[in-house]
Amino acid sequence: MGWHPANRRLACLSATDRSTIADGQRPHHHIKRFGVSMQFVDLTDPAALDAALTPRTRVVITETPSNPNMRLVDIAAIAERCRCVGVHLVIDNTYCTPYLQRPLELGADIVVHSATKYLGGHGDLLAGAVIARKDLIDQFRFVGIKELNGACMSAFDASLVLRGLKTLTLRMDRHCESAEMLARDLEGHPQHALAPRQMRKMGGMIALELKGGLDAGRRFMDAVTLATRAVSLGDAETLVQHPASMTHATYTPEERLEHGFTDGLVRLSAGLEDYDDLKTDLLGALDRL
Ligand SMILES: *Cc1c(COP(=O)(O)O)cnc(C)c1O
Repeated sequence: MGWHPANRRLACLSATDRSTIADGQRPHHHIKRFGVSMQFVDLTDPAALDAALTPRTRVVITETPSNPNMRLVDIAAIAERCRCVGVHLVIDNTYCTPYLQRPLELGADIVVHSATKYLGGHGDLLAGAVIARKDLIDQFRFVGIKELNGACMSAFDASLVLRGLKTLTLRMDRHCESAEMLARDLEGHPQHALAPRQMRKMGGMIALELKGGLDAGRRFMDAVTLATRAVSLGDAETLVQHPASMTHATYTPEERLEHGFTDGLVRLSAGLEDYDDLKTDLLGALDRL
């Protein structure tokens, strides 16, 4: 499969989380071994970046919308600040794909994608992509993950990504359409002003906060029948993930709050199913809580 757990850790450095997390507290701080120190900053407030930048800062990395709470970061505003101080801006564009959002055109230097998600689109491969100017790519192309741990993508996975790309726009339109109808059927969505400035559509991901906290989240996950419980996203099937009991189960409730989400938060990746089936499943599960 050409995958190693270390890849995931490096790939997951992106964050729009609030506050500075003490060094060494989490596995992803293994990056310290490479002599790199890291600081978490809430980039939903571009001014917060100014306070965090030091003369030693080399890279700012973020995803938008962010995982799992779906907050948006103003790419152009962050890019402008990075350009002024000569720092590279890396945007994880996995949630949007190039069809919905084009960070290089907004001033970012490097774009990364987990092709495991929408680009592949069928939940059957692990892959990634890095896009940048040639002179930047050349700096890490031959000194990257492959040389550090031997990870290398298989030809079969590569061909599946190419095949997935053929239907990317069709799938994204459908993911977005279903997610938008779901959001309407569930409730409104904040940050509506920034989204149209940098995103073609709102994307296929939804975060919902259940009032009943951890227990409600667990019960919701047990109650859905069409949607699948899985941490991935961007598949043909609708996927639901409950960070407090799954991806962030090792965090304390306080730490989860510091990272900007409650124990009742459920993340949903709208799939390609018939919308009425989806609505019946999800609203039915909510009704049963
Ligand atoms: C899944 C994901 C990653 C990690 O990618 P893998 O292909 O699963 O290793 C990185 N960033 C984002 C935004 C993701 O959703």
